[in-house]
Amino acid sequence: MVNIPNTFLEWPFFDDAHRRMAGELAAWVHTHGAALECEGVSERESVRALARLLGEGGWLRYLLPAALGGPRDKVDVRSLCIARDLLARDSGLADCTFAMQGLGGVPIVLFGTPAQQAEFLPRIASGTCITGFCLSEAEAGSDVAALKTSARRDGDNYVLNGRKTWISNAGVANAYIVFARTGEAPGAKGLSAFVVSADTPGLSVPKSIEVIAPHVIGDVAFEDCRIPASQMLGQPGDGFKVAMATLDVMRSTVGAAALGFARRALAEARAHVKGRHVFGQALAQFQATQMRIADMAIEVDTSALLVYRAAWTKDTLRDRVTLEASMAKLHATEAAQRVIDAAVQLFGGLGVTVGNVAERLYREIRPLRIYEGASEIQKLIIGGQVLGK
Ligand SMILES: Cc1cc2nc3c(=O)[nH]c(=O)nc-3n(C[C@H](O)[C@H](O)[C@H](O)COP(=O)(O)OP(=O)(O)OC[C@H]3O[C@@H](n4cnc5c(N)ncnc54)[C@H](O)[C@@H]3O)c2cc1C
Repeated sequence: MVNIPNTFLEWPFFDDAHRRMAGELAAWVHTHGAALECEGVSERESVRALARLLGEGGWLRYLLPAALGGPRDKVDVRSLCIARDLLARDSGLADCTFAMQGLGGVPIVLFGTPAQQAEFLPRIASGTCITGFCLSEAEAGSDVAALKTSARRDGDNYVLNGRKTWISNAGVANAYIVFARTGEAPGAKGLSAFVVSADTPGLSVPKSIEVIAPHVIGDVAFEDCRIPASQMLGQPGDGFKVAMATLDVMRSTVGAAALGFARRALAEARAHVKGRHVFGQALAQFQATQMRIADMAIEVDTSALLVYRAAWTKDTLRDRVTLEASMAKLHATEAAQRVIDAAVQLFGGLGVTVGNVAERLYREIRPLRIYEGASEIQKLIIGGQVLGK
């Protein structure tokens, strides 16, 4: 096991509770290393097992504020980032499972009624209710406001029709957060959010999608899927607000996961170049290698600074951190791709060997530059914020 320093925890963004939590989580990951690898188990079974494991470890409670059973007064984004930073170093699937419980849990924390919170949050925190976040559609990925799935009011119910795609945990989730058009206004202002149990008649998972890194993902379809109006999150027309408020919490954490991948790549590369001898000396002794390692280390630290700056701003200064979270997500995911690519290069042929850590990280990092707002969309957001649009 390579050593990954956690000196970033000395930065002023953190308090002693963060440092304690990081120490305990690092020890927990060490103890549960084999279980986190899920070798020989299908991805679906792995997600179920990992959710339970994370729940039993108490880590999913960090998705809740104290009033709802969490360890801190409010949902603390720095703790979520630390969790993803640490989990991603060892298991992309464990990180993703943690993140998906967040994408399902946070909207209920922020907008749920007491009844919805009581029904779902304890089970989300114990890992016994796995969640999915149904926003994207075939014609509405980056352009979320173009989504067509409809929710028609019918007495005390809403009737959902439409098809979502790219839904992580499709077919494994017990409950989905679903965004649908209720038509209060055109575009983004005519959307509403619902929490829908996976066993609701009319909900199906017609397709699984295979992607380059371990990930349960597919389509979720709704055909005359009738749900009580009490399953709406927030008010009619609040859907976009629910999605954006959730992403304001979760977007920096994508950067944190990328950071975890990058830290592992740097640590693996460091160990490799010290041990590998070419032309009569260790790779680490060539200045070209030292410069490459320097570039990687700077990418890691600039990512960490942006990720934890965004999280600290959200936790301590203000609720909306659109600019900071977009910068963190964009920079950390793009930088991690460069760091991991450099690690693959330093490993030489070994770097592209199936099963090599650098090879795994190379596949695992790629989707993070696309989901929860692709890099180009983050640039549009940042540009718009800077220009005061
Ligand atoms: C592994 C994975 C997991 C996912 N999980 C979920 C999930 O759980 N729930 C969910 O709802 N969605 C999920 N998604 C979907 C994801 O959010 C979308 O793939 C993403 O928003 C991009 O949408 P798209 O694929 O339709 O690409 P498009 O919107 O077709 O974009 C294609 C390319 O065009 C660029 N582009 C788009 N608009 C502009 C513009 N205005 N200017 C310049 N460039 C532009 C994009 O940045 C991108 O590079 C997941 C995706 C992946 C890959």
